[in-house]
Amino acid sequence: MNFGWFNRNTPDSELIRTTVHEFGHAIGLAHEHLSPVNTIKWDKPKVYAYYMSPPENWTRQQVNEQVLNKYKPADVRNTKYDPASIMHYYVDPSLTLDGKGVGLNMTLSAKDKLFIGKIYPN
Ligand SMILES: [Zn+2]
Repeated sequence: MNFGWFNRNTPDSELIRTTVHEFGHAIGLAHEHLSPVNTIKWDKPKVYAYYMSPPENWTRQQVNEQVLNKYKPADVRNTKYDPASIMHYYVDPSLTLDGKGVGLNMTLSAKDKLFIGKIYPN
């Protein structure tokens, strides 16, 4: 888990959002924007330009791994694509061909809760 950017001025909402997201990873959840069934129509040149600039300064390979390359269906168990998932990155509408973005999800979605219940049954 990486909380390295938290400081005294970090808003509680960001602390909570990030902590829930990171604990999602800890219990086995993967990034929703990399779902094999996601419907994001990335404008790839814009995505590379965005993430390869500050503050991320990612390499092309990191952009592929963190944003663009969907998981292989055989490697994950997935629900229908859930843009409300806490495991989804924010998607700026300017980075998609159809102008559809995904907001900053702040809490577990209904599908997140359902999926967690399936992988951790009573
Ligand atoms: Zn993550």
